[in-house]
Amino acid sequence: MLFLSHKPSAAVFHSILFEFPSLQEMRQHDVQELNRILFSALETSLVGTSGHDLINRLYHGIVVNQIVCKECKNVSERQEDFLDLTVAVKGVAGLEEALWNMYVEEEYFENDNLYRCGACDKLVEASKSAKLRKLPPFLTISLLRFNFDFEKCERYKETSCYTFPIQINLRPFCEQTEMDDSEYMYELFSVIIHKGGCYGGHYHVYIRDVDELGNWQLQEEEDGLIEEKALRDTENAKETENPLAVLKGILSEEEAKQIPVDQLGQKLLEKKGVSWNKKYRKQYGALRKYLQNHPQIFQLSPDGNKVGLKETHKLLFKLDSHGQNLQSPSQKNDVQWNCEKNPPRPRAASAGCHWFDLNDSKVQPIKEKDIEKQFQGKESAYMLFYRKAQLKRPPEARGNPRYQIPEHLLNEMNAANTELRKKRAECDSANNGIDLHLHLSSCYKFHNGALHPSLSCKESVVDLTIDRRKTLGDLRQAVLQVLESWEGDMVLSMAKPLPAGLHLYQVLDGDELILDGIGLADGADIFVWNGKEVGGTKVLTGPEHEPVVLNVLRLAEHNEGGKGQHFSEAQHVFPCSTSLGQLHSALAPAGGIILRNGSGVDTEAKNWQVFHEEDMKETVRSVGLRDGCSVLILDSHDQSFVNLASGNLTAFTYDISWLQVKNFCGVEEEAKHVKITATIETVMSDIKMKAIREFQLQEELGNESCLRPVSGNGKLLSPVSEDYTVKEAELKMGSLLGLCRGKAPTSTQLFLYFMVGSDQSCSPEMEIVVEETASVGECLNLMLEKSGLSGDNWHLRRLDWCYEAGEALSQENATLKELNVCRGDTLIITEGKLPEKGFLKIPIWWLKPSSHKKHGENAQDQVNGMTWKMEALQVSAAAAPAEPTHPGLDLCYAGRIEIAGEASLEDLKMQVLTLPCCQEQVVPLPSFLRAWTVDSRRPGKLLRDNKRTLSDYRLGARVEICIEPLQEEENLGPHELLLRVQMGIPGERDYTSSRDLVWDISKECTAWALRQRVASHYCLPVDKIEIAKYFPERFEWLPLSSWTQQISKRKRRKKQASLQSAPYHLKDGDIIGVKNLLLDDTKDFSTVRDDIGKEKQRQLALEKRKSRQERVQDPLFPDEKLPPKPRKPEVALSINVGVFR
Ligand SMILES: [Zn+2]
Repeated sequence: MLFLSHKPSAAVFHSILFEFPSLQEMRQHDVQELNRILFSALETSLVGTSGHDLINRLYHGIVVNQIVCKECKNVSERQEDFLDLTVAVKGVAGLEEALWNMYVEEEYFENDNLYRCGACDKLVEASKSAKLRKLPPFLTISLLRFNFDFEKCERYKETSCYTFPIQINLRPFCEQTEMDDSEYMYELFSVIIHKGGCYGGHYHVYIRDVDELGNWQLQEEEDGLIEEKALRDTENAKETENPLAVLKGILSEEEAKQIPVDQLGQKLLEKKGVSWNKKYRKQYGALRKYLQNHPQIFQLSPDGNKVGLKETHKLLFKLDSHGQNLQSPSQKNDVQWNCEKNPPRPRAASAGCHWFDLNDSKVQPIKEKDIEKQFQGKESAYMLFYRKAQLKRPPEARGNPRYQIPEHLLNEMNAANTELRKKRAECDSANNGIDLHLHLSSCYKFHNGALHPSLSCKESVVDLTIDRRKTLGDLRQAVLQVLESWEGDMVLSMAKPLPAGLHLYQVLDGDELILDGIGLADGADIFVWNGKEVGGTKVLTGPEHEPVVLNVLRLAEHNEGGKGQHFSEAQHVFPCSTSLGQLHSALAPAGGIILRNGSGVDTEAKNWQVFHEEDMKETVRSVGLRDGCSVLILDSHDQSFVNLASGNLTAFTYDISWLQVKNFCGVEEEAKHVKITATIETVMSDIKMKAIREFQLQEELGNESCLRPVSGNGKLLSPVSEDYTVKEAELKMGSLLGLCRGKAPTSTQLFLYFMVGSDQSCSPEMEIVVEETASVGECLNLMLEKSGLSGDNWHLRRLDWCYEAGEALSQENATLKELNVCRGDTLIITEGKLPEKGFLKIPIWWLKPSSHKKHGENAQDQVNGMTWKMEALQVSAAAAPAEPTHPGLDLCYAGRIEIAGEASLEDLKMQVLTLPCCQEQVVPLPSFLRAWTVDSRRPGKLLRDNKRTLSDYRLGARVEICIEPLQEEENLGPHELLLRVQMGIPGERDYTSSRDLVWDISKECTAWALRQRVASHYCLPVDKIEIAKYFPERFEWLPLSSWTQQISKRKRRKKQASLQSAPYHLKDGDIIGVKNLLLDDTKDFSTVRDDIGKEKQRQLALEKRKSRQERVQDPLFPDEKLPPKPRKPEVALSINVGVFR
């Protein structure tokens, strides 16, 4: 406080706090208390020095209290010393009123309240008054802002208005009043302000610049002109061209903290008569960008739309000749006073009435009028400091912050200032140093449309740090220093790395320009060259020649084709000033078209647009081709894919592909392959013509040829219609087509295969094209003609799903279209007339027990015997591989009967008896015959109800029936299962001849029940037999295990699955092997015949696998060298419907 009252030196004040660290802890205490403690501490520390009575001399005052006896006029008086006066705030308007109350008003002792006079020695009336007897040079006044509310029992802060004057005449309050007025005049020089409530808050202080330490010159200026004027005065006129100064000038005039950027541009136009874009843009870029690039000066709102000056730039005064601000980011906790250089400066006329606001480390100028703001409120004056107006500062103290500060404190200050300057310099260079990257032309080459560092020279970039406030001339010198060996002209050009490479912009010209002003930012790239060429290549500079990297796509060569890779891709660089015409001739010198991807850089997007002829004068930039944009070059050959009318090429990239075409027209042995590019929309005739051209065949062939898909195994399929698209022809991309002689069927024609009989090996497959409106009869005649057959004993059948003669085309007059005969169908010319409508033509087989064999007869002979019989019946061995039927059963072809569908089974049996071979048999009645369907050359389904009509059995057109003669009548019910049981011969792997066993399954169809039935049939104990079902197609026996027999009957019935379901699928005709455990304890049911059958199957499978492998080994032309495979299915499909009947 002492030093504060002497001179407003925050540095000193700080030093004092520094010397009395214990005081720092008290900062939160009441400042009045602090003041007293401080005085006391100072006094103690000054004992024994010349300043021992300093506090006394400066602050000590005396108040005298007097009581005057009304009776004897005796004056009784008491003196009070004070270092500060405490004045009431509550109920008082201001300082003068408070002083008046204290030192002018008298108090009277009267009535009940009398005074005891010492002289009179009795209670008397008296008057009491107080006066200031001695005024200190410095008068300190504490305002009693903190009071206690006795009603609420709490402290409170008095925030009412309490005025105090800048100057005050204390004469009315003094005891002696005869002196000159000047002796009583006091001036306010400091105000301590408390902000907050009574339980906490913050102090700051206003201090008058008594020693005129501040440079207040600028404050006298008109507000807005300050910065500009300063610049005008101190720097040369050219600097006013500096946009930084101009913008700062405009912004500093603004009342509002921030103004819209647009408005700033408008004000610039008003003020300078020229717009930013016209005057500065070329050199400094866009205004907004420019503001952003100078964050140390301009403060932009978060959305970037408003701008103002940074707080530090608003400071309207400067404390040193360098114009550096009082505040600097690095000295937040301290205040810098420039002490070394202290040239006499012009004093303002009203010197001494400037005020500082010291608030923590922050010092700000305030106006004297601002003091009045602290008269009242939460933030209000708390202590007042007046000094005698007469007191004059010694001249050497003026503007000298070091005046009379002890040496050791000055040293300390100097050290602190040195440290600060160091920090400031560091901060300064951090704020203003910019790193520039110098690219040396000698290390660069110009190729592919842009500059690239040559590989041989790794040090193509030299980094240089320079202060942004330096000039271009300084930079040039610095560059020359770095590049000592530079010879000839040196041109510095702004450069920017672009995707294509380094590109050059404006030349840095005008040595006197400030680097900051021309927009040289940290990290800027500068190209150092001769301004003309790099490595002998003239270099185009400027934004109008920026190189653009384009993705140039072309359709992939045929052998590059593959899913998702239909394009070859290459990057090309063009100056953005390149015209599309130039682009076209560079990329497609042989003609063709250029398409751009409408969706920008996404090459997978579908929207391709053609650049039309009229676009050719446009430039790469004007049509919006940017880095990474894709263009597609189609040569004239590819143009057939482009729908130029719409200009759009939709779904192009996804669907374009190629088809293979193989030449089947030539006579040469080796058929040539070509690949033809196509989209799903390409028409087949186009593909054909392209293929003919690729094969270099006669164009005329176009009319006499067709394209036929080639199947996986090399078969030529039905020709595709010429006017179909790839999509309509249902061709997969990449699939193989054969170019064949012969016209393709028109859209109203059918291409059909046909053959005679369903056996491919006997009759080759033939092809024919017929109108779809042709009748079945006409079609048959055409086919007969083509196959060289004659006569009318033929009809047509479709090929069924297992490639055998299926449904007959019985309506001779119906058209193929009506019967849904489709392109590529195969029809079979079948011998014989069609049965009349409603009639079935059924081949009949005779099933009889094979002639009695001796045990041990060669099983192979038996198999061969069977084969021989089949061959005799014109059943091909290849079509029906030698498979034994039921052992002991022979199938004999008996002939064909024609019978109405409405006839009963009995009728059929009757008719069978008329067949020649059956007449030999002695069959008394149809009920002595058993009828089976024939499935896979074996008895299939047992037809059991003699009264049922054939149509009820739903036998189908292709049914064949075998008839089994019986020794006795039979009429099986629906719940009677016919099994053939055969007993194993002990010690041999063979069985006795099978015997029929009828088993009633109406109650139970379980393994347990069957075992019981079989046991009783053979009169054996049920637990002394094992039974198994035979699967002739697999040569396997499956034991009918009944291990659950221990379970109670009831449970068993519930739990045990029916034998009619998996895995046994027990049905009529099944063979059940029986082992008598009393004689035969082997559990093996298999026979020698089974072993042979299995071995044959194994070899067949082996061959199959081998041929498959051979196919795999020839990946280029799969299946081609193999003979056409028989289309016979390899495994019979059997669908089990369980117990359904
Ligand atoms: Zn008296």
